[in-house]
Amino acid sequence: MGNQIKKGDTVEIISGEDLGARGTVQRVLPRKDRIVVAGVNVVKKHQRAVRAGRGEVQAGIIEFEAPIDISNVMLVCPRCDEPTRVGFTLDEDGQKVRVCKTCGEVVG
Ligand SMILES: [Zn+2]
Repeated sequence: MGNQIKKGDTVEIISGEDLGARGTVQRVLPRKDRIVVAGVNVVKKHQRAVRAGRGEVQAGIIEFEAPIDISNVMLVCPRCDEPTRVGFTLDEDGQKVRVCKTCGEVVG
């Protein structure tokens, strides 16, 4: 698989409740099979007021994005704006770069 999806990529959700949603990858978890996408898989959590260091965190409901499986997303190509599979090629410096399988452009 390799590093198909990177932080900062735009991805489209291809299964589950958020099907069709797009968002920016905020985090790739260390094992690389799960990612956090802005605005996707938002969960609400009740939080009690806690005193941590100097500040006090207010009680209430916090919302945050829970990680999703990387197999549930496709990279949205910045060139052709289509959700696409990712291929790899070598650039002129011999570095491995990602390629959009839809339009063939290098996507970095
Ligand atoms: Zn493309």
